[in-house]
Amino acid sequence: MLENIKEWFRPESIAETVEIIANGNAIPYAGGTGSRSARALGLIDLRRLNLDYIREENDWVAIGAGTSFNKIANYQWSDSRHILALALGQAASNPLRNLITIGGSLAFRPAWSNVPTPLLALGASVKVAGAPATEYPIADFLHLKRNSKFFITEVKVPPAPGYGVYHRFARTRFDYAALDLAVYIAIRSDTIEICRIAVGNLIPVARRLAELEKNLTGLKISDSGISEILKAVDLKPLKNSNFSREFLLNMLKTELVRAFTQIREQIYAN
Ligand SMILES: Cc1cc2nc3c(=O)[nH]c(=O)nc-3n(C[C@H](O)[C@H](O)[C@H](O)COP(=O)(O)OP(=O)(O)OC[C@H]3O[C@@H](n4cnc5c(N)ncnc54)[C@H](O)[C@@H]3O)c2cc1C
Repeated sequence: MLENIKEWFRPESIAETVEIIANGNAIPYAGGTGSRSARALGLIDLRRLNLDYIREENDWVAIGAGTSFNKIANYQWSDSRHILALALGQAASNPLRNLITIGGSLAFRPAWSNVPTPLLALGASVKVAGAPATEYPIADFLHLKRNSKFFITEVKVPPAPGYGVYHRFARTRFDYAALDLAVYIAIRSDTIEICRIAVGNLIPVARRLAELEKNLTGLKISDSGISEILKAVDLKPLKNSNFSREFLLNMLKTELVRAFTQIREQIYAN
């Protein structure tokens, strides 16, 4: 809703943006597809900040907060960071994906967002400017208060030379997902050395399944007990008018087993 908006700000730098946010009731306007506080009296146009980029650095890929879902989905990822592209390339619709930004999504982060889950599996971090200027591991960032007066500038994603899978379950192609799942596994001598399993949409805040990760780390990827371990996952899905909690939990178990089958297929194809 824009009816309360009295003023647009067009800062030229991040420092200026942070000052405008700190000074009052103006808030950033990124893709403009999410909802915003009705108390906001001003909007901050971010276009002059040049935050629309994907940059390969030595130890990570840096994604500017103003980068659209489609730009990330169409980028030529050279390793398992492509699961982020898979997630964002299936979210919303093509016209919306040209507008929705990764920064706006992390600030707004509704339960249906498909940004947190792949970022958790990839061990990403989020850089913010403002009070205080710092870099948060994604899991910590997701628990910050939404109305904090910080400004997201960048997402950093470390290399992912192992195997990655992303699944999304929705009633129709365009519907919000009822469940999304991202798995990242690194293997040495057939043994699971790094295991990150993240789930979103069916719980209020996406998170990693730490217990499951612990039980799988150190096992041979061919271990016949892996499916039973995956099926022992337990969490309480959000109430959903279309699906029972039991159905959603069973869907999660099925998708987990399928993800590991796909990872084995990727390994044996090499
Ligand atoms: C019909 C529809 C379907 C959708 N389906 C999906 C889906 O399936 N999966 C999915 O992941 N998303 C989906 N989305 C997108 C999601 O719901 C939000 O609309 C989107 O994430 C908001 O991003 P934005 O760039 O448009 O941000 P904006 O709407 O511009 O901003 C959202 C909030 O974040 C603040 N903000 C913006 N940028 C920053 C920044 N850099 N730092 C701090 N605060 C900031 C703004 O002030 C505002 O409060 C859908 C959207 C629509 C309209």
